[in-house]
Amino acid sequence: MPRDPTSLLREQGVQVTAQRLAVLRAVSRRPHCTADDIAEDVRAEIGAISRQAVYDALGMLVEKGFVRRIQPARSPARYEDRVGDNHHHLICRTCGKTVDVDCAVGDTPCLTAAADSGYEIDEAEVIYWGTCPECLAARRGRPAIEHRQSNHSDSDQPTSIKRKENARGR
Ligand SMILES: [Zn+2]
Ligand SMILES: [Zn+2]
Ligand SMILES: [Zn+2]
Repeated sequence: MPRDPTSLLREQGVQVTAQRLAVLRAVSRRPHCTADDIAEDVRAEIGAISRQAVYDALGMLVEKGFVRRIQPARSPARYEDRVGDNHHHLICRTCGKTVDVDCAVGDTPCLTAAADSGYEIDEAEVIYWGTCPECLAARRGRPAIEHRQSNHSDSDQPTSIKRKENARGR
């Protein structure tokens, strides 16, 4: 957030409270965090806050456009303060780690529907799912270690192991 959040909230006619400011700061510190993460951060900063108060503050901040809410499948909603652009998300299926990815097109909707059925389409919800580098490394690391323990002569060729693994996967 480039400007002082207190004046930004006031400009939008939002009553500035310590709880709202703390929620906004927590979202800013931990992009793509859940409401529970935020509650934990806010409690550490200003003391007791109910779960409901966190949800209320988040709802208001989303409504006023200070916070963006994303709702990946089978996951609690996540919040971030990067708003006003059409960026997308890359989510690891294994550990849930979420990163931003700029929209290749820039504006909404960045995908053209094959048929619009007469709708005026204003958004395409894009989430890229996959496996993050750490989970990929962990997955690839296991066969490599087994291989080394088995004491074959080609244990110093991880690339060939990877290739074999990929071939098996398909
Ligand atoms: Zn991962
Ligand atoms: Zn994001
Ligand atoms: Zn896009």
